Amino acid sequence: TASIAAYPMEAPASQALLDRALAVTPGGVNSPVRAFRAVGGTPRFMVSGHGPYLRDADGREYVDLVCSWGPMILGHAHPAVLEAVTTAAGRGFSFGTPSENEVALAEEIVARVEPVEQVRLVSSGTEATMSAIRLARGFTGRSVIVKFAGCYHGHVDSLLAAAGSGVATFALPDSAGVPKEMAAETIVLPYNDLAALEAAFAERGQEIAAVITEASPGNMGVVPPAPGFTEGLRRVTTEHGALLVSDEVMTGFRCSAAGWYGLEGPYAAGAPDLFTFGKVMGGGFPAAAFGGRADVMAMLAPLGPVYQAGTLSGNPVATAAGLATLQHCTPEVYDRLTTVADTLTAALGDELGKAGVPHVIQRAGSMFSVFFREGAVVNYDDAKDQHVPAFAAFFHSMLSQGVHLPPSAFEAWFLSAAHDDAAVDRVLAALPAAASEAA
Ligand code: PLP
Repeated sequence: TASIAAYPMEAPASQALLDRALAVTPGGVNSPVRAFRAVGGTPRFMVSGHGPYLRDADGREYVDLVCSWGPMILGHAHPAVLEAVTTAAGRGFSFGTPSENEVALAEEIVARVEPVEQVRLVSSGTEATMSAIRLARGFTGRSVIVKFAGCYHGHVDSLLAAAGSGVATFALPDSAGVPKEMAAETIVLPYNDLAALEAAFAERGQEIAAVITEASPGNMGVVPPAPGFTEGLRRVTTEHGALLVSDEVMTGFRCSAAGWYGLEGPYAAGAPDLFTFGKVMGGGFPAAAFGGRADVMAMLAPLGPVYQAGTLSGNPVATAAGLATLQHCTPEVYDRLTTVADTLTAALGDELGKAGVPHVIQRAGSMFSVFFREGAVVNYDDAKDQHVPAFAAFFHSMLSQGVHLPPSAFEAWFLSAAHDDAAVDRVLAALPAAASEAA
């Protein structure tokens, strides 16, 4: 077991890289939450990843509980995925024509998520939600979108209102640069509040094209839907002729083979009309998708009037990685994720309890997070009402002991099937000191 002394706070090689990065990149990072703004200190620049471990520029090894924010469900550099990627790359990088891997990946998705009849591949979760919103507007001929506070759907203009993830980490109300007119087309409601949804539809039901929701939110920390909430979303949208878009970018193929829908669905009131996917389905490469009802998807060009396209969409290397990843997401993989989540959440609760730290741990399948507060978190206001400095102390103690957590109190922790007992034991050994730091 690594001692704290073996992992000093200073990270000179990472700091040197950060200094270079700061000169040429805003904040030194290419995605805001990678900066350690919320927790302080030097973000670790990684040089390699194998199984459950990452190695940084200073040569220190970490148990990785970020897993690239979700994609690395099989662990880093999984041999079968590596082979698929190497083989695909050896045949060429991008053709700009259809190729077989993209058909096979679409078939895998359609086979897993029963209500999804057709999918279109894109390169990021942001593109997937952006395109799903355009499609819902084109299909219904309406323009207003309903989203929930604390849900993050990528950096799409109309979806950046009261978004979670980095927007929460940096305490931004919204993003500058989103026109007021655009924001006016978005209604933001509290999560898990069907009465608020019904009131919004009573007032503006005829204008609402779609409700978009994270299938089980993970971007304000893990806040699962209350029993009946998703069902209620389906009932109300159907009553008013609006579409329901279930964003499974984070939960898809992670919470189960069929994502959150596989755990909670099918719903008596009917399935969501559209789904969005990303992360796991790209296996660490840029591949994402949106899909659902065939009659809605038929509105897309070249069949219909809703335009959407991409130079690298369905890229042969990215789709090879995604396909190999999904093919290796066996029942044993999901069992392992569950076992590790059971072990870690139990130990985390024990150690924080012993140290007298107020906390609540919430779970959606194997995704979980800890809120440093008393009482269940059902919405964004609850999530924000926590002791962030306690998280920062906890985070740095874990980091100094060789455990890499998301550097924010508003993010899910992600596991992989490569987290074997040795990796889990290293996390368990780090918890007591971290819990007492948080006290
Ligand atoms: N939707 C959800 C639920 C997400 O968690 C994310 C990313 O974290 C996105 C959409 C955006 O995906 P990407 O970062 O690939 O654009």
